[in-house]
Amino acid sequence: MRRSARRRRTVTAYREHGRTVVLIPAAFTAAEERRWVDQMVAKLQTREERRRRTLGSDDDLMARARQLSAAHLDGQAVPVSVRWVENQHRRWGSCTPADRTIRLSGRLRGMPEFVVDYVLVHELAHLLEPTHNTHFWSLVHAYPRAERALGFLEGVEFGSGAPLPAGAADDELEPGAVD
Ligand SMILES: [Zn+2]
Repeated sequence: MRRSARRRRTVTAYREHGRTVVLIPAAFTAAEERRWVDQMVAKLQTREERRRRTLGSDDDLMARARQLSAAHLDGQAVPVSVRWVENQHRRWGSCTPADRTIRLSGRLRGMPEFVVDYVLVHELAHLLEPTHNTHFWSLVHAYPRAERALGFLEGVEFGSGAPLPAGAADDELEPGAVD
């Protein structure tokens, strides 16, 4: 909870490095503070739960991947499995073209859907083109919000600068996988 002398009546809440920050006007009484903190924390939780529900499971991801392949890659990219993984801290996703498996980093959970869609399209395109060559990027850019999503992810990476979580090994790609 942070009090701001400049704030008159607005209250803001957000997550910062895993902590919840609530900004309130300095003039609030203790009772007002308690009421607002409770309200804002509840609001944040509702928003996060709503986001988690979309594409929450591996089955949801697989269904979404099929839709995106049909919409943007002429249905040519056909994955065998698409799943969430929690051991990718630096990569957003990876793909093994040989067995047509795709993995998405759990860090994408809670990010806007167009960003998750972009990473799915990126990994799907690797099923058709394993390297990051011109052909690959022309496939990816069939997804209209690719550039915007790339900008979003660059912003996240720039802003996070945080060290890896304790005990986390740097990502290792399995043999034959691309990211
Ligand atoms: Zn790639």
